[in-house]
Amino acid sequence: MSRLEWQLATVAAVLPETPRVKTFLLNLPSWTPHRAGQHYTLRLTAPDGYQAQRSYSIASAPEQTGQIALTVELIDEGEVSGYLFEGIAPGDQLEVRGPIGGYFVWEATPQAGPLLLVAGGSGVVPLMAMLRHRQRAGVHNPTVLLYSVRTPEDVIYGPELHAMASADSSFTLLLTFTRQAPAGWAGYQRRLDAALLAEVVSRFPTPPQCFICGPNGLVESAATGLVAQGVPAGAIRTERFGPSGS
Ligand SMILES: Cc1cc2nc3c(=O)[nH]c(=O)nc-3n(C[C@H](O)[C@H](O)[C@H](O)COP(=O)(O)OP(=O)(O)OC[C@H]3O[C@@H](n4cnc5c(N)ncnc54)[C@H](O)[C@@H]3O)c2cc1C
Repeated sequence: MSRLEWQLATVAAVLPETPRVKTFLLNLPSWTPHRAGQHYTLRLTAPDGYQAQRSYSIASAPEQTGQIALTVELIDEGEVSGYLFEGIAPGDQLEVRGPIGGYFVWEATPQAGPLLLVAGGSGVVPLMAMLRHRQRAGVHNPTVLLYSVRTPEDVIYGPELHAMASADSSFTLLLTFTRQAPAGWAGYQRRLDAALLAEVVSRFPTPPQCFICGPNGLVESAATGLVAQGVPAGAIRTERFGPSGS
């Protein structure tokens, strides 16, 4: 089966991640190994034939065979995220096709160099696939996830990320809270700015390969800021989730 053909996935589980984010584990009749960072297209069809399609990044590692995890943030008045969030339960079927995308991808090889992942909100999803892939492949290249969220309850995959950082000294998790930090928080409490990015880049002996994903505004400011810190533009890959202007 071609990756561009639609297939009917069965929802194996629905996992709450945050009050506004759920992960859908989908069993695929025709599973194709993906590259960490790729996405699937999901298509909903109403009884009257009306269809809506949206892209969702794969959260799971390519090593997790037969299944993909999609993590969806509920968008206010969102047509597709709203339906998935409210209307989908284990056993339901969803039409998907993929994996898609060949640019925003990372391979965990023994030669992998330093890696900086920058996420805003649900932009952490494809970066989580990279981190899970890295972990499953047993690669220990110096890696930082800089993850911007509004409040502590918005951290997606929090327990898994903290466990990953505790178990692997080559991986650092840096959270920044833009609206409300946890009590006693000594880390970053602001949007990504030049000083913050400079501090993060200075943790690497050589400029890292960078992947940035999230709303347009965060992606723009992080990419511009990293270039200003001396990271070559060619070492930065970006993926934008939100509507223009966000
Ligand atoms: C390559 C790619 C990968 C993606 N991966 C994921 C993923 O892993 N998880 C995920 O949750 N989303 C992801 N998205 C976003 C996703 O495709 C949808 O755009 C999102 O779920 C909103 O769709 P909707 O039908 O619910 O909202 P719509 O009905 O399309 O929009 C409702 C309103 O919300 C606004 N809006 C749309 N998207 C956003 C947004 N992201 N943030 C804020 N406002 C928005 C619209 O302008 C509109 O006003 C990805 C997008 C791309 C391009």
